[in-house]
Amino acid sequence: MNLDYLIRNCHIIDGTGASAVPGCIGIKDGRVVLTIEKNTSAEQVIDARGQVVCPGFIDMHSHTDAGLLIDPRAQSKITQGITLEVCGQCGFSAAPVLDESGRAELDDWRKRYDIKHNWTTVDDFLRVLESTPIAINFVTFVGHSNLRAAAVGLEDREATPDEIDKMRMLAAEALNQGAFGLSTGLQYPPSSFANTDELVQIAAACTPLGGIYASHTRDEREGLAESDAEAIEIGERGGVAVQISHHKGYGEGKLERTLAALELIRQARRRGLDVTVDVYPYTASSTGLGIFLPRWAHDGGDQAFVERLKSHRNELLTALKASSAQGCPKWHSVLVSNLKTEANREYIGLTIAEIADRRGKSAEETVLDLLTEESGSVSIIHFGQAEEDVVAVMSAEFSMFGTDASARSTTGELAKGKPHPRAFGTFPRILGRYVRERKILSLELAVHKMTFMPARKLRLSDRGVIKNGYWADLLVFDPNTVIDTATYQNPHQICRGINYVFVNGRLAVDHGELTGAFAGRVIRRGAK
Ligand SMILES: [Zn+2]
Repeated sequence: MNLDYLIRNCHIIDGTGASAVPGCIGIKDGRVVLTIEKNTSAEQVIDARGQVVCPGFIDMHSHTDAGLLIDPRAQSKITQGITLEVCGQCGFSAAPVLDESGRAELDDWRKRYDIKHNWTTVDDFLRVLESTPIAINFVTFVGHSNLRAAAVGLEDREATPDEIDKMRMLAAEALNQGAFGLSTGLQYPPSSFANTDELVQIAAACTPLGGIYASHTRDEREGLAESDAEAIEIGERGGVAVQISHHKGYGEGKLERTLAALELIRQARRRGLDVTVDVYPYTASSTGLGIFLPRWAHDGGDQAFVERLKSHRNELLTALKASSAQGCPKWHSVLVSNLKTEANREYIGLTIAEIADRRGKSAEETVLDLLTEESGSVSIIHFGQAEEDVVAVMSAEFSMFGTDASARSTTGELAKGKPHPRAFGTFPRILGRYVRERKILSLELAVHKMTFMPARKLRLSDRGVIKNGYWADLLVFDPNTVIDTATYQNPHQICRGINYVFVNGRLAVDHGELTGAFAGRVIRRGAK
């Protein structure tokens, strides 16, 4: 046999958690070949002395969504060894787009980036991606906010039985078209307007289809355990597997609270529930500034929110002051990472406290001013977690990893702003800082959490492990040098030590440089 590639002299970490073994790996027609004879030839031979070969990483929590239509290179993802990303998280997915405001938002976005493609259903959207050369494998969930906007609208109210039926029908339709499960964003409207019973019923519609319920839970502060308990309850009553998204607890000195939440999950697992979590290796989160405003401010959707910033300014000021008086958030720990208007661009990279100083106003007034000037949309990075909490989640036997970021690039449209460094650095940061330097995890266990664990959760039958005949999503990295280089002030930085990345058997990254291969595939649930 003449292989496409032969990787020689490497340590193979196969993703199962088994110890590294010396060996060589072949690639032929997109698949892994492990039966290699002495005289087997190859088009290209890679000498990987001192390096590890493992399955491509699975980003269990990604927000790239339709971003691959803006820039299909997924540079920040594949340069860190990610070969598959799981999108449609936190209650938002690229499809379906069935309501008027969602349609208007998509049309605006298409105009802004000059995207000719259009879609309504999950099937439409996946077809668009299937017709586009993309660098990375793509999986999506369906967002509960998409469904609720279509069935209920954007109001803060209970759904009627008919509306719940409609959401159940839409969820099942999305799964039948290839979505892997349902995601909720219970801190983001309109998903946040749902009660537990509504979510149990919609999640249950995904159960016969083998779907997963993924949740950005309601409260990552004092209500952490209750929020995890709600996700577990939805799993148990709905009979559905659960993934708790970007598990974290805000605040210093709260390790006990985090450990109690993790223990709840452990107990649910002992009862037989398939509940797992994902986590990113940073103490800062990234979200929108609007998250600090009370739920009632978001009733009716984005437009109503922007109007309320003016009409209810005094009430909002009072609410903001009350929460900052309790220390949450601390405005010097909230960094503005992106803004839309040219006039405000100078504030990117500054904290709310610094911007307030420059403007000579209180932090709370500054928050409302910025949100008003930016039509409700201000991206932020919030330094709010403790390192020991991050380590506790990372060390849990049921955690895997996600970037919680959309794909970015060092050039072009997606090089703008100062996004969270996790976009470029998540996986190499774990391998460099938490495996090599601090020895929190063994290399084999870290790779297992990055590959086979998520593949098993997603029920992917031919990825996530190095096995004869499996898809050749592979990477070659140097365990002695691998490290993230992206920082909060300088986030568009390619990591070090990830030397080769193969997507479906094609070389996509060669020593940190993109080769220009677009070998990614859309993977639909249940498709062979
Ligand atoms: Zn989220």
